[in-house]
Amino acid sequence: MTTIFTKIIEKQIPADILFEDERVLAFKDISPQAPIHFLVIPKKEIATTNDISAEDEAVVGYMHRIAAKVAKDFGVDQQGYRTVMNCNADGGQTVYHIHLHVLAGKPLGWPPYTDRLKVE
Ligand code: AMP
Repeated sequence: MTTIFTKIIEKQIPADILFEDERVLAFKDISPQAPIHFLVIPKKEIATTNDISAEDEAVVGYMHRIAAKVAKDFGVDQQGYRTVMNCNADGGQTVYHIHLHVLAGKPLGWPPYTDRLKVE
């Protein structure tokens, strides 16, 4: 399924691109949830983490390496950052083209969700 991220890959809509090669693209999130918030996506259309095939294993690992590289470019690799990949409705996924969120620039709370479960 084609999403807005394919339009970004194909330069049909603009994005603040941080890294690009033949396999992946990293760009700033349009609605940042931390002082630094960017996304790393594969150029291949993969809808959700449920759809990652054996042949996709290399690019998914590579996405993490590029997350670390761009975090280092921002100078936050040592203080730290968080990577998140949401899956489907309950995971909070809104764009059905897998993407690694990278959040940094302040100490991040845990757990990451705000609707806390009541523990009896
Ligand atoms: P998710 O909810 O995990 O699917 O995350 C989708 C992310 O894509 C959200 O954090 C959005 O802010 C971000 N996003 C949606 N459209 C754009 C866009 N045109 N450029 C950059 N980020 C976007």
